[in-house]
Amino acid sequence: MPVLCQLANPDTYQVSTWNLMDNEEDAAYWLALFAGFPDRSDRYLLEDGLAGPDFSRRWLAFATEYAERLEMIRVEAERTGRLYTIDLCRFRWDMLDRHGFPDPCAGVKQRENDVAVTLYPEVVQRVDALAGRPRWELLLKGILAGNMFDLGSPETMAMYQRGEADFFSFLEYVPARPWFIDHADVLLSGLNGGARWRQVLIFVDNSGADIVLGVLPLARELGRQGLRVALAANRTPALNDITIGELRPLLERVAGMDPVLSDLLTSGRLVGIDSGNSYPSIDLSRVSEECDAAAAESDLIVLEGMGRAIESNWDASFKCDVWRVAMLKDESVVRWRGAKLYDAVCRFEAPIIP
Ligand code: MG
Repeated sequence: MPVLCQLANPDTYQVSTWNLMDNEEDAAYWLALFAGFPDRSDRYLLEDGLAGPDFSRRWLAFATEYAERLEMIRVEAERTGRLYTIDLCRFRWDMLDRHGFPDPCAGVKQRENDVAVTLYPEVVQRVDALAGRPRWELLLKGILAGNMFDLGSPETMAMYQRGEADFFSFLEYVPARPWFIDHADVLLSGLNGGARWRQVLIFVDNSGADIVLGVLPLARELGRQGLRVALAANRTPALNDITIGELRPLLERVAGMDPVLSDLLTSGRLVGIDSGNSYPSIDLSRVSEECDAAAAESDLIVLEGMGRAIESNWDASFKCDVWRVAMLKDESVVRWRGAKLYDAVCRFEAPIIP
């Protein structure tokens, strides 16, 4: 698989420079979070009819091997002094796959997409009622609000279970500016008035409000300003992240309700592509051919969500403009960055020429 051509320093690229073993509290937190995964996840399979035959026995076999292998990972991390969130993600999905549970969140994702699609007309109506900079500001706020829906974070998982995970209340969670990292003025001056970029490649994160109410209205507006937009989604399932197999029909579905989006799709100015990746943290040294080809044509790369923008690729440098946008929803990520829960990151960087 190709290395993303827009990486400025491919030879020294590291998916993540956040070694969890540098801080005892962080290592313990992530190991405990992953240890609790089997107990948190059987409900999705059972409630959504995804359990399959002989579920109790198969799930017990999964949970037993999962616990044993996680303990081996812990011991190995103690020995080497190294542990990264992507290692844990990779381990979890290998286990699920091996035991025949490749996509426990399939039902959740579907439901969240259905809800978000019904809210889409209202969101784009609110956007279209504004013009110029206020329109872009609302779109920016929308992408942060949408990114609150995340089944990787205990805080937002609890909100989801309590039925509080709706887009319009999430808009209220977006803090007032200035944000924790706030390069929005540079970004807004590049967006408002258009034509600073030709093509934007967005590495998208979650299903539901995130993609439908956060990313799509922004992509739609970029398209309307004459930019081409490529949305890169994961190849295979990871928690509630949207996959390319889910993204393509979702784009068609939303386009059926919105002539603007429909025009962008039929003219090829908005496309969904396979990133080639499989986890919430993404490895830009292994992307799909089509993702690399899209990157070559792009002059702005967007890394959306904590996994893509912060837990991985925080220190990566690019040959084109890069925008990292995420809501901080995890206590350990917050501790690592010296932020507060629900702080917003809007980090824009001009190209680094190696
Ligand atoms: Mg995610």
